Amino acid sequence: MKDKIVRNGSPEGKKPAKAKKVSTQMERKRLVEELDGLASQLCRLQWHMRCGMCGGEGSQTHHFFTKRAHGSTRWNDDGLIWLDFGCHIYKVHGKGDTETIRDAIINRIGQERFDALKREAQTIRKYTMDDLRAIKARLIKDRQDLICRQAEELF
Ligand SMILES: [Zn+2]
Repeated sequence: MKDKIVRNGSPEGKKPAKAKKVSTQMERKRLVEELDGLASQLCRLQWHMRCGMCGGEGSQTHHFFTKRAHGSTRWNDDGLIWLDFGCHIYKVHGKGDTETIRDAIINRIGQERFDALKREAQTIRKYTMDDLRAIKARLIKDRQDLICRQAEELF
C-alpha cells in the first residue's frame, strides 16, 4: 500500500485522492442509514407505536413522499407514518391506497404543515456532510424532547 502511494506521487502519509473519496462516500452512507434509523424511531414514537391506518400494532415507517424522489423530506418526520406490515405492503404499496395515510398525516400535523411539507418535498436539496450531521443532531434532540413530553403526559 505504501509503495503504491509513493509510486503515484502522493506525499507520504497522505491518502491518495481516490481512497479519500471512497472513505467519504462510506461515511456518508453510514450517516444516511443512521438518519433513516433516527427518523424511524421518531416516527414510531409520534404514532404511539400504532399503525396510522388500522390502529393495530405498527412495525415500520412509511415515507408519504418517497425517499428516492423527495430527498428533501427524507428525514422530515411530518411526512412519515408508522404502519404495520399488512397496511404498508398490501394496502399502500400493493394497492396504492395513499389517500388514507394522507388523511391520517393531515389529522396529526394539520393542513398548513402538510402543505409546507409538500412544498419542501418538491424542492431539490444537496446535503453536505455538515448538513447531514446537523440533521442528526436535530433528530436526536426531537426524539429526546418527544420522549420527555410523552413521559409527562403519562404522569
Ligand atoms: Zn395497519
